[in-house]
Amino acid sequence: MAVLEIVKEGAPVLRKQAEPVTQVTKRIRRLVKDMLDTMYEANGVGLAAPQVGMSQRIIVVDVGEGPVVLINPEIEEAAGSEIDSEGCLSIPGRWGYVERAQEVVVTGLNDSGRSVRLRADGLFARALQHEIDHLDGVLFIDKALEIEEDEAEEEEEKEEAR
Ligand code: ZN
Repeated sequence: MAVLEIVKEGAPVLRKQAEPVTQVTKRIRRLVKDMLDTMYEANGVGLAAPQVGMSQRIIVVDVGEGPVVLINPEIEEAAGSEIDSEGCLSIPGRWGYVERAQEVVVTGLNDSGRSVRLRADGLFARALQHEIDHLDGVLFIDKALEIEEDEAEEEEEKEEAR
């Protein structure tokens, strides 16, 4: 188990366009494993590689239904719209209401390098869209309709962070 350091807002890597993964190597699989360890350790529901300082198109998500790994993820379809609160492990203590598609179909590769296509809605869809934004250097504070700062509730609310 290797828990990596989560970089915080202000780090240039969070604003870069992440590079596609050309081959799912042993090194990539190790990074995926470390990202999962890091996400669970931080009680997050998602993490993108730039958040651990790696500018590569890899995300991990677990909204309570088991880990989902996507390499080079693409949103193929998006439908509906929903406004809900979200936070980010790279922006502790801040929360905002963000409009996202209610349902998405996402394609990519899993950590074996096989093509996957999955349909998600609700929190799962929100987490996927939030993490894919990270790969394009976009943070939720860019899209939030309203941002709340609450240092006191930071620890408690961390459980919902992604
Ligand atoms: Zn985030």
